Amino acid sequence: MKTPFVTKEKLEEIAKEYPTPFYLYDERGIRENARELKKAFAWNPGFREYFAVKATPTPGILKILNQEGCGCDCSSMAELVMSEKCGVTGENIMFSSNDTPDSEFQKAYNLGALINLDDITLIDDLYRVIGKMPEIISCRYNPGGKFTLGETREGFQVMDNPGDAKYGMTRDQIFQAFRKLSEMGVKRFGLHAFLASNTLSNDYFPELAKILCRLAAELRQETGAEIAFLNLSGGVGIPYLPEQNKNNIYAIGEGVKRVWDEILKPVGLENVKLYTELGRYMLGPYGCLVTRAIHEKHIYKEYIGVDACACNLMRPAMYGAYHHISVMGKENAPCNNIYDVVGGLCENNDKFAIDRALPKIDRGDLLVIHDTGAHGFAMGYNYNGKLKSAELLLKQDGSVELLRRAETLDDYFRTLVW
Ligand SMILES: *Cc1c(COP(=O)(O)O)cnc(C)c1O
Repeated sequence: MKTPFVTKEKLEEIAKEYPTPFYLYDERGIRENARELKKAFAWNPGFREYFAVKATPTPGILKILNQEGCGCDCSSMAELVMSEKCGVTGENIMFSSNDTPDSEFQKAYNLGALINLDDITLIDDLYRVIGKMPEIISCRYNPGGKFTLGETREGFQVMDNPGDAKYGMTRDQIFQAFRKLSEMGVKRFGLHAFLASNTLSNDYFPELAKILCRLAAELRQETGAEIAFLNLSGGVGIPYLPEQNKNNIYAIGEGVKRVWDEILKPVGLENVKLYTELGRYMLGPYGCLVTRAIHEKHIYKEYIGVDACACNLMRPAMYGAYHHISVMGKENAPCNNIYDVVGGLCENNDKFAIDRALPKIDRGDLLVIHDTGAHGFAMGYNYNGKLKSAELLLKQDGSVELLRRAETLDDYFRTLVW
């Protein structure tokens, strides 16, 4: 069973000042989770989490994470500028884009960010843009083929297809890139790879670490390159379904440590720094979308219409993603109604839940859509002229802070020429 981090009474109180729909984030949960991550990887003295800004691009959130020691992983101009405005600059920024425009390389370089190159051809682009090479550069690796993990009787627990992914360099290209970059004056190197998304397995990071550690040792051996860091990137998942189990971040940390000891220690590379760029794991469970039931409709199926729509949360429409829903004040009521919970877009995929067993929902009920703290608000859009909601922070002292106001019609019309 999933329990919201906020009570119905508190939500009704908040809704008086900030009408639904809105996003609410849990400061306590965010901070506690960030501290546990740090503890789990404390065996690596250089450990650093670069929060994937794209997951929750909200200054109030970035500042909390920065206070907990996290940097920012950026992949666009807006994300770079937002980090800068939050006081996060220099090597506290990882710039990890793909198909990168010149202007973004220039901005990342001006900020002193660590630059992670997605492709070998970008070496010349970066050189052309900034006129020299930074002392430290990272390269993104794509091993190709299929990446599988945790074979079970039902099939593979985690399976992704790096061979079909647009990211990263092949093995040969990584060796070429390291040689070329060394000749161009780069002194220290990072290696990055992202092979699977939303993994509910304590083995994903250790398996990925094996791949990167082995590659790092070979690169060191064959090119003489100094390896400064390995970046395991994102991909650690969260349990969206109530019956799924949480990852154990301490087991993940221990698993990666074993790989470090086994592969890097014998070749004298155990001091290589370990970086992560988690997004979902850092924020997903600590944010929810709060919406109100405004209509019910009984045709061939039973529908509950809410005041949020896919523009506020795209994951169910886009990926068929499951997000648990709590009907506030009815937590213990029997779930003996089967509903589609829908928004108002003229798109039949605008459904937060399909055939979901829920307590009887009445007009005016508040619904909490769980685990939307990452890749939730961030993927919002304006189809049908729907406006983006406010984002609020439930602070540790119980007060509420506005992080982003709701969009207005004026905002929506601002870019139009009449
Ligand atoms: C999206 C992304 C992340 C974060 O992924 P999560 O699945 O949210 O952990 C990290 N690094 C890069 C380069 C990304 O594109």
